[in-house]
Amino acid sequence: MVKYQSMNGIKDILKEYGVDAALVITASNTFYLSGYESTNCRILITDEKDYFFTDMRYLEEAKNAIGDRFEVLLGGVEEIKDIVSGIGVKTLGVEENISYGEYKSLEDLFKGVKFVATDKAFGALRAVKSEREINLIKTAQSVTETAFNEILPFIKEGVSEIEIAARLEYIMLKNGCELAFDSIVAFGENGSKPHAHRSDRKLCRGEFVTMDFGAKYKGYCSDMTRTVALGAVDERKARAYNAVLEANKLAEKAIRPGKKCCDIDGVARKYLAGFGLDKFFSHSLGHSVGVDIHEMPAFSPKCDAVLEKGMIITVEPGVYLEGDFGLRIEDMALVTESGVEILTHADKNLIVL
Ligand code: ZN
Ligand code: ZN
Repeated sequence: MVKYQSMNGIKDILKEYGVDAALVITASNTFYLSGYESTNCRILITDEKDYFFTDMRYLEEAKNAIGDRFEVLLGGVEEIKDIVSGIGVKTLGVEENISYGEYKSLEDLFKGVKFVATDKAFGALRAVKSEREINLIKTAQSVTETAFNEILPFIKEGVSEIEIAARLEYIMLKNGCELAFDSIVAFGENGSKPHAHRSDRKLCRGEFVTMDFGAKYKGYCSDMTRTVALGAVDERKARAYNAVLEANKLAEKAIRPGKKCCDIDGVARKYLAGFGLDKFFSHSLGHSVGVDIHEMPAFSPKCDAVLEKGMIITVEPGVYLEGDFGLRIEDMALVTESGVEILTHADKNLIVL
């Protein structure tokens, strides 16, 4: 049986928040705590025990999957209210990113109970990955790299962005994963839009192909970007590629426990500035990856979080020249005891097909 340490972890953190109990509604948090995925569930964490409320569609399966750690019951907020009043909860933890409708119904039902936002508690807990989570992300990444290796022979003159994206996704699904997000495949000038929507645009020689994609394995995401070229690229593109590659490598080398996230972003930004390319690097250097594709902390100029062993954060410098071309190179970096382990092994020197 899989051992989840997260329930104890969240209880410890919630004590610091001074809440008597916590209601968990957000899908990624309920999955994180239980390891069970459903489209309708609510978790109530109390000192005594933990409850998992769902509907008939999931009840039996949930009882079998997580019944040893949760009291699995039929119902929703009304039933939760009975427990909350029964044990005399005065302060209830809730997540900030629930819908307005949900918040209103909680306010009406839980009269006299004080709500305390728990998002930061979950953020802090989820930022540091357990051994089990790290292994799931590594498996997701290895399937993502299988897709990368297998796609290369299909990158030819006349192929469309949609065809490449569809094939990448097919390979990840065929290998037992789900998709972490909709793959980005951008040719030529479309590459100047960091999150371009794929189209039926056909590939021509001398162009960059940016592919940003990731598999999801047992609920955990991976995320990588590689930019390859069809035929030789001109001097400008080659120069930009080498600058982004070096920025990626330098930033990765700088990662170690105790460093501030913003300083890692600064390493890449400063290097690109030496080539006059920093003004074309229009997003943060990276984001944490886990149950969600975008988690905290982030390698952003604004994030002063300190790196800890077990965090998994992407390193993805890119340059984007509007209407011209763009490129990005993205790896996932695991913060280790003494430094960093790069979880992305695919070649990142410019591959010319
Ligand atoms: Zn990505
Ligand atoms: Zn990313």
